[in-house]
Amino acid sequence: MAKYDYDLFVIGAGSGGVRAARLAAVSGAKVAIAEEHRVGGTCVIRGCVPKKFMVYASEFSHHFKTAKSYGWSIEKASFDWPHFLEEKDKEIARLSGIYVRNLQNAGAELAHGKAKLLDAHTIDIDKVGRRTADRILIATGGRPWMPAELPGVEHCITSNEAFHLTELPKRIVIAGGGYIAVEFAGIFNGLGCEVTLVHRGPNILRGFDDDVRSHLTEELEKRGVTVILGASHTAVEKGAGGLVSKLSNGHECESDVVMLSLGREPYTEGLGLETAGVELTGKGAVKVDKFSRSNVENIWAVGDVTDRINLTPVAIREGQAFAETEFYGRPTSFDHEMVASAVFSQPPIGSVGLSEADARKQYGKVDIYLARLKPMKYAFSHGDERALLKLVVECETERVLGCHVVGPDAPEIIQMAAIALKMGVTKPQWDATCAVHPTMSEELVTLREKHVPIGLGQVA
Ligand code: NDP
Repeated sequence: MAKYDYDLFVIGAGSGGVRAARLAAVSGAKVAIAEEHRVGGTCVIRGCVPKKFMVYASEFSHHFKTAKSYGWSIEKASFDWPHFLEEKDKEIARLSGIYVRNLQNAGAELAHGKAKLLDAHTIDIDKVGRRTADRILIATGGRPWMPAELPGVEHCITSNEAFHLTELPKRIVIAGGGYIAVEFAGIFNGLGCEVTLVHRGPNILRGFDDDVRSHLTEELEKRGVTVILGASHTAVEKGAGGLVSKLSNGHECESDVVMLSLGREPYTEGLGLETAGVELTGKGAVKVDKFSRSNVENIWAVGDVTDRINLTPVAIREGQAFAETEFYGRPTSFDHEMVASAVFSQPPIGSVGLSEADARKQYGKVDIYLARLKPMKYAFSHGDERALLKLVVECETERVLGCHVVGPDAPEIIQMAAIALKMGVTKPQWDATCAVHPTMSEELVTLREKHVPIGLGQVA
């Protein structure tokens, strides 16, 4: 008789958990996975996937404007929000169904309910009962963080609710300057809402390259988003004409919806991790080693719940590395260096490697190659939209340390650039690549002039 009910019990059927459960089950292990909501996790249900559909929906208004400059006339274009929601929900249900089938086909058992550890080998699943497992994987992801102390916080929504608003707001205030805030600013702006973005810092998207940050702020403003920097919410009140956002700079703005995008927190609450002796970081994330193992020998964690790089593909790779190590006898740790990411703002950003500021901190002297250009697609339109392409190069070795693009298709471009950077490409190798013409990304392989940032003098 087996000592435990399962070889592996996974808590959380999102991207990382599902990948690990499937791979482990395919190896012949007896696997169960618990999920308290719908299978698919943040990415599929209330993140990347529905967000990208919203981005697609919202981009049409911009395309219509460009189309006019090419001779098209588009009469009375209008947008049907309920129709969009219905189509989006159908597709999300289809994708969630695929996740369920893939788990079943692999032989993993699915348990619907909130799971809680009773000790390092025993799990209690709400409405299902107690189960035991040799190994346990925590893959519960993260959830939006809300400032409980903010007066009127109960009037605000997060990205979770933004996917299900019964009506499209005419005016929305979005608090925050991270990925979610700028992506939703673009979405609601494109759908015709009046958007005000309020961010506490001097510029949006902390951690990204400074040129990228200021470029995107300018582009958001060109498209009609009001960006308020250096201010944060002190209260949200219900007024006669809607919600009133009271800001630390003394300003007030009225809107129909206030969305808080102030970051996400690891979802570890109520999991019984303390009971099982699992150590958490100060931010409440599960502390893990490079093999995603916690301080408890038979408990691992992958994805946003570990607060390493909070991106879907990273969670997938961490889940895969865990399964390879534990069920295929191939010790594998995911390399968190040179992970590219995209911000689906409008225009979008693609970024891989170091920002100029981080590169200067780590390497001292760096060469900067930078171009700002009007994308060819907009040649006929009178707007002044600009794209930005930037390379950060280590002086001594000429290794390309960072590549940053803002403009049409930047997320697609950066995926390819990421391969080269991961391989350690040097600027001469990069330059030896022949351009693909006419494209925007050809500018990346024809950047020859070193860029001298204002105030830095000649950069050697
Ligand atoms: P981020 O951590 O990216 O941004 C949070 C923002 O809120 C920052 O601008 C931060 O300001 C601000 N903030 C935090 N606390 C406060 C406060 N108390 N008062 C005022 N402002 C505050 O979080 P997001 O919620 O945007 O996204 C969460 C994560 O999800 C991302 O980091 C990313 O990993 C992932 N994600 C990835 C996407 C993609 O790949 N395209 C899309 C969406 C999410 P400051 O900078 O000053 O700290």
